[in-house]
Amino acid sequence: MNEPRTIPPRLRDRLYAALTLVLAALLLPAAFARRPGHARELACHWALALRFPAEDLTGLTDGTRAAFSAARTEALWRHRQLIGLTSGYRDPAVQQRMFEEEARRRGSATAARMLVLPAAESPHVRGIALDVRPHEGARWLEEHGARYDLYRIYDNEWWHFEHHPQRRGTPPRRLAHPGERRTGWTPATPATYDLEPAAEKTPRPRLGPPRRERTTCPNERSTAAPSSPGDRQRPRAAS
Ligand SMILES: [Zn+2]
Repeated sequence: MNEPRTIPPRLRDRLYAALTLVLAALLLPAAFARRPGHARELACHWALALRFPAEDLTGLTDGTRAAFSAARTEALWRHRQLIGLTSGYRDPAVQQRMFEEEARRRGSATAARMLVLPAAESPHVRGIALDVRPHEGARWLEEHGARYDLYRIYDNEWWHFEHHPQRRGTPPRRLAHPGERRTGWTPATPATYDLEPAAEKTPRPRLGPPRRERTTCPNERSTAAPSSPGDRQRPRAAS
């Protein structure tokens, strides 16, 4: 699908982006005092936390979180684009329940896999997947994310990105939907699907606390509250 080219930018999103940029600029002195070498990234982090108060980056791998923070720092300061996180890490039980509910709703596991994967196969459970918003932010990430090894994966999910440092800036072939399997992919080895082995890049600086396990997690259908009413650009489902 090519929906990113068909949904026009909203005035409201541009206004939010301008306000968030002003806020980040006002926070810059305090960020510089706290971390002189990473003031722009920290100020962006603070400003985005106010714009998207419901987002939760815990549970993501250190590499995924660092890449996401660096990418949206560039998006804000260089191009005035906001990128918020709708859903990141998911507890396996939550992911499996999402899959089973989708299977019941659609009548089969095969149909469910068009939108949601079972826990054993989900990159959200592995902490490397990011469902983002708004649409303009996703478009920015689709265009520039390879610099951070963040890639859009599915044709039918404009919001879903994954961190694959093994790709070293080369986007993988996009799949039609989550249920389409890549050559060599097996459920028993989800961490190796489609990607040739290679060394991890040098870790990027990280802003948040160390990764820790969680017993619950948000997903866009049940617990993640929108940061503002009437946000029609929120993802409808995720793999
Ligand atoms: Zn997703």
